[in-house]
Amino acid sequence: MREQKVTGYRIDVQPRGLGDFGFASVGTGLLYGHGEDARQRILRDEKERCDDIAQDIRRHVDNVRRVTVEEETEAVCSFCGHAWTEESTTYNGGCCDADEANNPTPNAGAGR
Ligand SMILES: [Zn+2]
Repeated sequence: MREQKVTGYRIDVQPRGLGDFGFASVGTGLLYGHGEDARQRILRDEKERCDDIAQDIRRHVDNVRRVTVEEETEAVCSFCGHAWTEESTTYNGGCCDADEANNPTPNAGAGR
């Protein structure tokens, strides 16, 4: 039987949201707007905040061997941006016409 054995510990530091000012909190849409440009600006500012926090930890916290800022990712369709839900790496169940063009068995879905 498989068992997960605890082998050590790590500290996970979550940055405060860009719209969270401590005393008040607003959605990022109010600060950045919406759309791909806004998403890119939000990611840039979140990365900058994380880099600042990592630098502060290196400078001020004892007994730290390494601090890294890691990306959080999710699989999405490269054509339409829909969440990737399938085992296949080339066909996402037909989330859009461009994805459907990659259907390995185009007639299998008929009648669904
Ligand atoms: Zn798609």
